[in-house]
Amino acid sequence: MTSNDFLTFLEEGFCARDIVEQKINESTSSDDKDAFYVADLGDVLKKHLRWARTLPRVTPFYAVKCNDSRPVVETLATLGAGFDCASKTEIQLVQSLGVEPSRIIYANPCKQVSQIKYASAHGVQMMTFDSEVELMKVARSHDNAKLVLRIATDDSKAVCRLSVKFGATLKSSRLLLERAKELGLDIIGVSFHVGSGCTDPQTYAQAIADARYVFDMGAELGYSMTLLDIGGGFPGSDDSKLKFEEITAVINPALDKYFPADCGVRIIAEPGRFYVASAYTLAVNIIAKKVNMKEQSGSDDEDDGASDRTLMYYVNDGVYGSFNCILFDHAHVTPIVHKKPKPDERIYPCSIWGPTCDGLDRIVELCTLPDRQVGDWLLFENMGAYTVAASSTFNGFQKPDIHYVMSRSAWQCMQQIHVQGMPALVEEQSPGNMPGHCGCGSTLELPAKPCATRVL
Ligand SMILES: *Cc1c(COP(=O)(O)O)cnc(C)c1O
Repeated sequence: MTSNDFLTFLEEGFCARDIVEQKINESTSSDDKDAFYVADLGDVLKKHLRWARTLPRVTPFYAVKCNDSRPVVETLATLGAGFDCASKTEIQLVQSLGVEPSRIIYANPCKQVSQIKYASAHGVQMMTFDSEVELMKVARSHDNAKLVLRIATDDSKAVCRLSVKFGATLKSSRLLLERAKELGLDIIGVSFHVGSGCTDPQTYAQAIADARYVFDMGAELGYSMTLLDIGGGFPGSDDSKLKFEEITAVINPALDKYFPADCGVRIIAEPGRFYVASAYTLAVNIIAKKVNMKEQSGSDDEDDGASDRTLMYYVNDGVYGSFNCILFDHAHVTPIVHKKPKPDERIYPCSIWGPTCDGLDRIVELCTLPDRQVGDWLLFENMGAYTVAASSTFNGFQKPDIHYVMSRSAWQCMQQIHVQGMPALVEEQSPGNMPGHCGCGSTLELPAKPCATRVL
C-alpha cells in the first residue's frame, strides 16, 4: 500500500476504538456531529493471517462487492490475495491497484457481453458460468476464457440465499460440459457458494462432494480440471452463530477426502464478509428524541413512572445509508451507548430510527438503553460487510466519512508479507491463538477486544 495520506497510524498501545473516542471528543466542542466510521485495516490483516492458518490449502479471492473501499482492496492487494470481481468496474478497481489478471476471477455467472469483452481485453480469463447461453456468449466474446462451472448448493440454511438465482444442478452440469466441449471452450474447474451467512457447515461438505462428482464427469468428457472454488459464506465476526473454525473443521477434512493435496487441483475461495465485517465501527449521533408515555397502569409511586416510558432515538445514519444491511443483508445490529451507563442507571425500552422521512427507516425495533440526549453517540461494531458498499444518499443524507487506521506493527507485517509472502508465517502460528509474532521481524500486537480506552 502506498497512499498513506488517508491512513492514521495508531500509536503504540492504542487501538481503533481510541480513535473513535478521539473523534467524539473532538466533536463535543463543535456542531459537526456527522456519523463516521473508524476502519481498522490491521483487522483485515489479522483475518488474512487467520485464514492462512486455518485454511492453509485455500487461496482467498476477496469478494469485492462486500466492501469496495479502496483502502480495503489495496490492503488485500498488498497482502497478495486474489479477487472475486462481478463487473467491469470491480475489475477496473482491482487492476488499478496493479493486481495481475491471474489473481482475478470474474465470478458472475450472468455477464453482459460488453463486460465479457472488457475482461478479455484486459487479460482476465477465469470466469464462472451456469448456463448454456452464457457459454455461447463467452465463446463469441472472449479470446481465451478459463471457465469455472458454478453448481447450486443446498443453501436453505443460509441467511442470504444465492442458489435460487445461480448454480447449475448436477444433471444439467453434464449437458453444460458437453456443450462447452462442442464449442471448444476450456473448463478449468467448479465453483459454488453456500449462501451468505451460512449456518450449516455440512453444506460445504456436500458441495465439495458434488464438485468432485462434476470433476469426474468432466474427466469422462476429456476435461482435466484443476480449480476448485469453494465460494464465500464465512462469518465476519466472532459473535456469529457459527464460528469460522467450526466451518473450517468441516471443510478441511472434506477437501482432504475429495481433493487430496496431491490431486493437482488448486483450491480457492471467495470470502467477503469474513475479511471486512469486524474491521469497521460506526458512530452515529442522536439528532432527535421522543419520550412516549404508555397508558397509566396503576400506581407509579415507586418508579417515578419511568417503567411506563419508551424512548425513540433518531440518529444520523439509517437504512438508506449504512444500515441498508438490515434490508439487504438481513442484519441485526446492536447499539452500544458511548457514555457508559452508571451501575444504577435506569434503562428503557427504545427504538432507533434513521434520519430520512421514510417510516421504513428503522434501525432497531426494540432494545433497552439508558436515557441519552440529543448530541450523544451510539456505536455499532462489525459494520464492514454489505454496509458502505450499498448505501445511498437518499433524502440528501451524506454517507459517513471513513477514518482508516492501522498499527505500525501491522503495517510492517503487511509490508513483509508483500515482499516475502506468507509461508513462514503460517508455520509459526500456534493453533487457536492469534499471532503475537508475525514471523517477519516485527511484532504484531493484536489488542484484546474491547481495548482499554485512553484519552489521546
Ligand atoms: C457475494 C459473493 C461472495 C461473498 O460472499 P460472503 O458471504 O460475503 O463471503 C462470494 N462469491 C460470490 C460469487 C458472491 O456472489
